[in-house]
Amino acid sequence: MTVNAERQVCALIIVMKPDSTEKNISDITSTLETLGLGVHLSRGEERTIIGVIGDKRMLDDVPLTLMGGVEKLVPIVEPYKLASLSFQPVSSVVKVKDVLIGGPELVMIAGPCSVESRKQIIGVAKDVKKSGAKILRGGTFKPRTSPYSFQGLEEEGLKYLKEAGEETGMPVITEVTSEHTVEIAFDYSDMFQIGARNAQNYQLLKAVGQSQKPVLYKRGPSTTIEEWLNAAEYIMSEGNYNVVLCERGIRTFETSTRYTLDISSIPVIKSKSHLPILADPSHAAGFSRYVHSLSNAAIAAGADGLIIEVHPDPMHAMSDAAQQLTPSEFDLVCKDVAQIAKIVERNFHYGNQ
Ligand code: PEP
Ligand code: MN
Repeated sequence: MTVNAERQVCALIIVMKPDSTEKNISDITSTLETLGLGVHLSRGEERTIIGVIGDKRMLDDVPLTLMGGVEKLVPIVEPYKLASLSFQPVSSVVKVKDVLIGGPELVMIAGPCSVESRKQIIGVAKDVKKSGAKILRGGTFKPRTSPYSFQGLEEEGLKYLKEAGEETGMPVITEVTSEHTVEIAFDYSDMFQIGARNAQNYQLLKAVGQSQKPVLYKRGPSTTIEEWLNAAEYIMSEGNYNVVLCERGIRTFETSTRYTLDISSIPVIKSKSHLPILADPSHAAGFSRYVHSLSNAAIAAGADGLIIEVHPDPMHAMSDAAQQLTPSEFDLVCKDVAQIAKIVERNFHYGNQ
């Protein structure tokens, strides 16, 4: 459903009575759907909650409180609706091929900042998989600070990335930087990444929303958590609920790291949204020596996984050389993640299990 006229949009949840029947629920959902309203079911252990969003005038016409099985109606007061925990009180699990992000299992996404050659990406894919990575990353359209820096292998890189994913049995993710690159990457990538620089590029957010592909949506270096969730709503209001947030560091006065990893955003997001959240310690740190500690901290704070840059020869990487881990450094991070996972009551299979 596309939500256009903001003033007309209304969102609420219908809390069903514990003894409501399946028929009560389907009567309500079919009535609302017939009116063109967006409906989202959350089945908790005790009761079902029906999230409703759409044209306020349509909602005004339905006597919801009188319908069978309804306990109460609660309006969603947050400016973001679909992304809010009130709209969907159960955590979302986003499926990327057979990998589930946001479930009991922590998910590691790893790979180089940029795909540089066929040999490089296939080699590193095999390495990170051995340590426990489940999704392969590789930039192919690179948004670089300078126009004179390496801009990515584009479609040639996408072919190598896809091949590396197929050879190792991992889904792949790449960053898209414009509506045009969404079209090019569509047939190659299983998940799209929206980079920090495009965090408030609303046309791009709508385009990845329309693509219906899972999206890893990074926080902008200067966006507040509320702005970030509002922008996630752009993707979701196109009907694409497969959104995973990613904390990758914000701009502060501190200069000894590239950005400051806002660890607080992880529990804050968990208190406001049902969307999974990963952390990217690589771009936050800017230096490989800090990546391991930040990874531990993010998992301890409740992140659903990590995205880490890993390169076979970081010193000679064509982008982000200072922050990429070697495969053996990545292996040590995975080993610790498996230990911390037990404390935070999550699972992580270190090694290729
Ligand atoms: C990247 O993942 O390589 C990247 C450019 O990240 P960010 O958008 O977080 O800077
Ligand atoms: Mn990078």
